[in-house]
Amino acid sequence: MSFPARLEIPDEVIRIARKLEAAGFETWCVGGAVRDNLLGHANKDFDLATAATPPQVRQLFKRTVPIGIEHGTVAVLDRKRQPHEVTTFRRDVTTDGRHALVEFGVSLEEDLARRDFTINAIAYHPLNHEWRDPFDGAADLDARLIHAVGEPADRFREDYLRILRALRFAAKFDFTIEPNTRDAAAAAVPGLEGLSAERVREEWFRGLAGAQQPSAFVRLWEEMGALAIWLPELRGRQPTEPDQWTVVDRLGSSDALLATVYLSSDPEATLTRLKCSNADVERGRAVKRFRSSMPEPESAMEVRRWMSRVGDAVDDLVALSASAGGSELGEAVRKVRASGAPLAVAELAVNGSDLMALGIGEGPAIGRVLRQLLDAAIEDPTVNTRDLLLKRAADLATSTSRSPPPDREGRGAE
Ligand code: ATP
Ligand code: MG
Repeated sequence: MSFPARLEIPDEVIRIARKLEAAGFETWCVGGAVRDNLLGHANKDFDLATAATPPQVRQLFKRTVPIGIEHGTVAVLDRKRQPHEVTTFRRDVTTDGRHALVEFGVSLEEDLARRDFTINAIAYHPLNHEWRDPFDGAADLDARLIHAVGEPADRFREDYLRILRALRFAAKFDFTIEPNTRDAAAAAVPGLEGLSAERVREEWFRGLAGAQQPSAFVRLWEEMGALAIWLPELRGRQPTEPDQWTVVDRLGSSDALLATVYLSSDPEATLTRLKCSNADVERGRAVKRFRSSMPEPESAMEVRRWMSRVGDAVDDLVALSASAGGSELGEAVRKVRASGAPLAVAELAVNGSDLMALGIGEGPAIGRVLRQLLDAAIEDPTVNTRDLLLKRAADLATSTSRSPPPDREGRGAE
């Protein structure tokens, strides 16, 4: 690949670079946006690397946010208050596979040398349009290779997250991992155990959502042995059920969480290990619980009953069924919603006070009657009027006090 004469850099980024350079600090565009633009993928999110130290950057600009100051990263806010990352040229002094102690006051070349892969270690000068590519990242872009900068085994030992980053970039661009890099990554895999759940989670979900083919990303994690360590509940599903991959491919980029839940034999365990939010763990638990009892879309009554029982998980289950090729359930759910049929006690045309006014008592009795009214309204939504429900409640109250046989409970005689 020969470098283009110029990259189109947003004005706001140029302004920041100009100010730094005017103050005597060498400043370059680096990282993902340079790589993406060379690949022809639009990406205006250019990160800057500079000789200025974080305090110097903060002094030069009115509005800054210290987003990772110990690593040298400051966000500079532009006139529209959009953040741009500015990172001081740095070298890693000590590393332990998870964190690095960094030193500033080094050259651009040293800064590029601590970056993970050659395609991420290309620099472009936004003002004089020079290129720096000491590790021949351009050749690897041509060859479509993920290739560690320097000695791969050392680089993975410094930061085991790079193993997962290699998988993410490979799936995102449909690149191959260069053989030495791949072997070193595979050998370093036990080091993944020491990573924090938050970093792994971010790699997993970003990777799944950004992959050209999400199923290929899952397979890369499996082959590398990362699945066995961090997501054991997702292992070994591929040989028997090829259709599963279609679902993952349809779901992965739109809803990586749901794709993960779908693939996992125990979503609660998987999402808890990844330290996902309680709401996400709950989503996983609900989907698993209701997945095996999907309704017949042809029966509106069955669909209403199911929606009432499943509650918040309806949309996830519809999305799953749509990814497996079934559009009927989604259609049926839309119709039920459009009809305004009641699916919860709160949607009934009467409430607890109405029943108390009838003298039905309080507490559990009221709750039970409301539940029975809801059952009746789910079966036949036309009964959801105040008059009909009150009449039915009065009947239920008298028949309950006469203790009907259990099979008649909740089904008022009509
Ligand atoms: P994306 O488009 O997914 O954001 P990116 O290349 O911009 O990809 P970032 O995580 O935003 O990835 O990191 C920006 C740059 O910082 C990378 O291109 C790489 O040069 C460097 N970098 C980030 N994380 C690491 C790491 N763990 N080890 C070495 N270099 C890293
Ligand atoms: Mg980035």
